[in-house]
Amino acid sequence: MKDLAPAPYELRDADIEMIEPLKIIEEADGSITIEWSDAAESRYEPRALRISCPCAGCVNEWTGEKMLNPDSISEDLSISHVSVVGRYALNFHFSDGHDTGIFSFNYLRELSEA
Ligand SMILES: [Zn+2]
Repeated sequence: MKDLAPAPYELRDADIEMIEPLKIIEEADGSITIEWSDAAESRYEPRALRISCPCAGCVNEWTGEKMLNPDSISEDLSISHVSVVGRYALNFHFSDGHDTGIFSFNYLRELSEA
């Protein structure tokens, strides 16, 4: 018996293995904990996330140079809202009004492993 074409259910299985957040928890101290679908857990400080913001206003799109001065970010910055962008990223709304950063899941994982 020959069965060279992948069955549709196998495609769906592969899709499930994509790493994505299962839970996004705001801790009492304002930090964000993400539980990932591969059972990893990452914790993020609002100020560290804000400084790592990858948007065009914070990082030069062409050179990758950081445009943001970390000293300009308040120590008591908080995250007022988190929304999910499609199936690949999170968008954080910071208490300084900055909300243009799209943090891909891959980028968030890189940040937590750095
Ligand atoms: Zn930004």
